[in-house]
Order: sequence, then C-alpha cells, then structure tokens
Amino acid sequence: MTTHLLDQLNPPQKEAVTAGDGPVMILAGAGSGKTRVLTRRLAWLMTEQGLSPYEILAVTFTNKAAREMRERIAEWVHLDPGATRRLWIGTFHGMSARMLRQNADQIGFTNNFLILDAADQERMIRKLAEEQQFAHTYWTPKRLITTISRWKDGGLGPEDITEEHFRHPQDWHKISTLFTRYQAELRKTNCMDFGDLLVHCLKLWRQYPETLDRYRRGFRHILVDEYQDTNKVQYEWMQALASHHGNLCVVGDDDQSIYSWRGARLDNILNFEKDFPNTRIIRLEQNYRSTGNILKAASHLIDHNMGRMGKTLWTDGPDGPKIVRYAAEDGNDEAWFVANEIKRALASRSGPHQAAILVRAAHQTRVLEEALNRQNIPYQMMGGFRFMERAEIKDALAYLRLAHSLSDDLAFERIINTPKRKLGDKALATMQSVALADNTSLFHGAKRVVAENLLGKATTAPLAQFLALIEKAAAELDAGVSPGEVLDHLMTESGYRDTLSIADRGEEKIENLLELHAFLQQETDLTGFFERVILDGDPQDEARAATEQVVLSTLHAAKGLEFPLVFLVGMEEGLLPHKLAIQDNDETGLEEERRLTYVGMTRAKEKLYLSHAKFRYMYNRNEPTRPSRFLRELPEEIMEIKGFKVTTRQGIGGFHGYNNRFSRR
Ligand code: ATP
Ligand code: MG
Repeated sequence: MTTHLLDQLNPPQKEAVTAGDGPVMILAGAGSGKTRVLTRRLAWLMTEQGLSPYEILAVTFTNKAAREMRERIAEWVHLDPGATRRLWIGTFHGMSARMLRQNADQIGFTNNFLILDAADQERMIRKLAEEQQFAHTYWTPKRLITTISRWKDGGLGPEDITEEHFRHPQDWHKISTLFTRYQAELRKTNCMDFGDLLVHCLKLWRQYPETLDRYRRGFRHILVDEYQDTNKVQYEWMQALASHHGNLCVVGDDDQSIYSWRGARLDNILNFEKDFPNTRIIRLEQNYRSTGNILKAASHLIDHNMGRMGKTLWTDGPDGPKIVRYAAEDGNDEAWFVANEIKRALASRSGPHQAAILVRAAHQTRVLEEALNRQNIPYQMMGGFRFMERAEIKDALAYLRLAHSLSDDLAFERIINTPKRKLGDKALATMQSVALADNTSLFHGAKRVVAENLLGKATTAPLAQFLALIEKAAAELDAGVSPGEVLDHLMTESGYRDTLSIADRGEEKIENLLELHAFLQQETDLTGFFERVILDGDPQDEARAATEQVVLSTLHAAKGLEFPLVFLVGMEEGLLPHKLAIQDNDETGLEEERRLTYVGMTRAKEKLYLSHAKFRYMYNRNEPTRPSRFLRELPEEIMEIKGFKVTTRQGIGGFHGYNNRFSRR
C-alpha cells in the first residue's frame, strides 16, 4: 500500500505527503503537484496514521475538484461508496452547508434550508427595494447583491456597515436598512445565500462553543487547496477549526491569486507563519504538467509582476512545439480558427484528445459556441449554468422546491401564475399582505386567503387547486415517492407541460424536462440535490464532462485544471487585461490580470495558442483593437506567429473582401 502511495513523488513532494503533525505550508508554482500532494497526504493520513475518513477535512476550490479528489482517494484507501461520499472533502461553502444542516436549529433554521442562487437573491432584494420604495440608478438589485456578498466575504453583517463603507455617505442609512431587511427575509423564508453559509457557521460556533468543539476534536487534520484565494471569512473558519492542534496543511501559489475582487487576501499566506508558529514550509519547483516552451512563456510573463514571493519552475520534459500566436481579423475569424484547429487536432489519432478554450469574460463564449456548433464539435461549458438556467428548468424546480419546503416564498412567487391561472399581481399582493400580517409564508398566507374567501370566486378556485396540488406533492415526497415521479405529477396536473407543448421551441423544452426527470429519478436526497444544483451549477455538464473533448471556460473557472491543448482567446487591451484594470490604470488590477493570464497559460500541457482579433464587434459595430500588452511580454524566440499579415487591409472597413468567407456560410 505504502509503496503505491509514495510512487511518482519527488523528494519534497514526499516530505509534504508524510509530514507528521503540525502546520505545513506548501508554496509552489503551477503544475508542480500541489493538488497531487494534498490528495496523497489525505490518503496517507488514513492508511499510515490510522485516521478514520471522518477525522480529516479537505477544502477544495470547486466541487469538481472535490469529486476528483474523492475518486483518487478511493484508489488507495478501501472505502465503500457510501463512506467515500461522506468524506469531508468539499468547498468552504459545501462543508459549511453540511455543518449547518447538522445544527440548523441552533441558529433558528430548519435543516432543509434553501441556498439561493444569484437570480433568487436578486428577486428577493428587488422585492424588498420596491417595498421600501427604494429606486436608484446606481444601486440596482444586482449591485446591491454584489455589495452585500462582498461585505459578507469580509465578515461584515448589517450591524457592521457604517458611513465609511460608502462613497456617498447619504446612501448609508437606506442601504444598511435594506441589508437588515434582506437578512430578516432570508431567515423568515428559511433561506441562506452563499455568503451566509460561512457567516452563519462562524456565528454558530461563537454562540455554541460546544458545537465548535465537537468539530474541532473530530477533525484531527485539515487540508486546504488553492490557499492563496481564501478570503477573510474563510480564513477565520479554517483557523477556528485548526488553531488548537495546528494540524493544518495548506497549498498555494501567490502567482495564481485571482480572486481579490471577491475579498481573497494574499495576506493570508504572509500571516500564516505568524498565526501558526513553527510552520514547516515546503517548496516544489519541478513542473510536471507543461512543455518547456509553455513553462518558459508563462514564467516570462509573470516575471513582470512586482512583489512576488518569487519561485522558479523547471521541467525535465521536452520543449514541445512553439506557442502559436494568431492574429485574427475579427471575432468570427478567431472563433473559426479555433474551431478548425480543434477539429484538426482531435481528428488525428496520435494527437491530443482534449482541448480547452479559455475566455476572460463569460460573454465572449457566444461567438465561440456558434463556431463550434457550426463545425459540429460537441463542447462542455464549465462554470456556466446553461442547463439549470433555462426558464422551464427553473420553473419545474420551483414546483419541486415548494413541495419540498412550503415556506419557500421565492418558489411560490415564481410559479403561482405559471402557467397562467388568473393569479396575477393583485391576487399575489393579497396573499403577501396576509402572509405579512400573520408573519408566515406565502403558502400559508394563501391558505387563509382561500379559507376566508378574501379573493373573488374566479381566483379562489384556481388558487385552492394550486395549493392542493402542492400539498399532494409534499405528501408524496414525505411518503418516499421519487422526486422524479413527483415532478412528473406536478408538471402534468398543473398544466405546465401542456403549455410548453404549444410554446415556442416547445419540443426542446419538454426534452429538457425529460432530462431533468431522468436526473431526479436517481435522486433520493432532495435537499442535497438542490444544494448541488446551486453550489455546482450544472450537474448535467458535470456528467458530460468526462466524455466531451472540448471545454469552454472562463479563466477563473479553469483554475487547477489541465488540458493538452489550450486556446487563450481575446488577448486584446480591454479584454485581457480587462478594461476596468486599464481604466483605473491601477497596477494592482493589472497584476491580477497578469496572474489570470498566467493561470490560463499554465493549464496547457502540450500546446498553447494565444489569439487576438484586429477588430472586435462591440457596441453594434466592429471596433479596431490593440493586442494585449501581455503578448509583448513573452519571449519571441518561442513564438510562432500566424494570421493574415495583409498590410494593405489595415484600417476600418479594409477587410470586407476577406470577411466574405463568413458571409458565404
Ligand atoms: P495548479 O497550481 O495548477 O493547481 P498543482 O501544483 O496543483 O497545479 P497538480 O495538478 O497536482 O499540480 O499536478 C500537475 C500534473 O503533474 C498532474 O497531471 C499530476 O498528475 C502531475 N504530477 C505531479 N507530480 C508528479 C510526479 N512526481 N511525477 C509525475 N507526475 C506528476
Ligand atoms: Mg492544484
């Protein structure tokens, strides 16, 4: 067993895996095996130190990474599938949710509390803002939600918000009131948003030290991947669990810190040694992921950042092909080029079998998706919410959510008049005021509305019918009927499916419902399912991930992953670096953009393409662009320049002839 576990590890990696008790910090560059070390250490603690699976807690950055870690562990440690699933491996959010469900009553929630996604959060804050007649051009619901989330990342609650948190102090009162109302509404409806998960966990531990103590004694070792991107609240969370025994192993890379906008603090690396004295620091320098040329280009780039901790990476692998730099005419040309190169590469038997296209901003994927579709190249979207974001899926899930938890007001509002059953805004307002007066949920408010005939006959009948339908579904769920089947009843009896069948693209929508149904058939734990949908994005994409050869992802979501072939597109001033970083001409912002580019480049194992377009479609027309400054920071001798160098066609409107290729399609 041991030989197996320590196979294919270099000496410092081995040292890290087998380091005994006490704090350990592994600081190392991309692709040096940090995640591998962390995973093996987890297995080693079980097989060699005799820890049980429940005595170790490992934090990953994404749910996908957590799943991969579980799979690896199962290769070394014999666990039945149930035990593998129950291992404490997950994101900060996921594990907080799990602990909160175990103790929900202590902080005034029930254990089937719902986690809101961004759309739900916005809907809730919009409603509250309307109630308070708060209308503001700057403070849109979206901005309110982002601001509140950032405050929570920094550990701030409504009571901590002061005038100083505002550029315009006059905003303070109204917005902190809204924040307070928002928190109250969440509590009333048994909901939490992402930020709450950690904040509530810390609050739980402060109020019930014996609960914290149970976890502290339970987890004898704590492991954290991607440590450079922990924020203040996450740090406190981790410290609360680990400080008394100090058995904490963190791995990170200061050059890959890309979440400062979400409150990640590089200080956490610098302060670690202070908070955990006698920390053993281990550095890894050998890169096992990328070819020599890719590594060289990435190292050159990141060298332009100041204030790095500084490390050198080397590889004993081959140099590999040069880095391709492609100058496209416009966005379509770029997408077309990428799709063609991928098609060619995947077609060759000996070539790489997987490729990733990385973008800075999510909106950049549209034109790429179109090109991939036209070439019939199947692809997977990472970190996107494609499937679950679709209206019909959200509607269907809202039905199920309401049956699962009758106090889910957001779900109630979403479907009360979907399909149309004459229960419009006016009827809803009546239910809302009754619910408000009784300090209860909309569902229970609606029950009183029916019982006391507070609405006209024409509306009472369909409302009563709706409530009965939901109650029947709730009873079915309680009786253990599978969620898939319950959903099926809901969709049929509510008439929702019928309305879809005559809707635009109805067939496709019904197919989506069928897909959801198939998912739910295997699901026994509905609370867990909703949690995964919210925390993960799209379980369907996850399922496909293994088979799809092409991945489309933002740079942020690609962290920690690797692909033989990587296309970093849109390398233009304004896109990468992002225009916000340029506008403020702020060095910190630019350095973060450079780190983001570094993260992207170091995902590549065999071949890296960097592309930019001379014209980019913006504000309804093709605007000339400038190549990213980061392209100039790469060593020329390892670059292969491609693209049309047609000097006479420079300037606006000069490339129409060329562009015909696309209009002809
Ligand atoms: P990142 O900073 O991007 O998260 P990382 O430091 O976590 O990277 P890993 O993903 O753990 O690096 O490893 C990169 C690749 O190198 C993986 O494919 C891994 O399997 C491989 N690898 C790591 N260490 C070794 C080793 N000693 N021998 C062979 N392959 C290795
Ligand atoms: Mg990693």
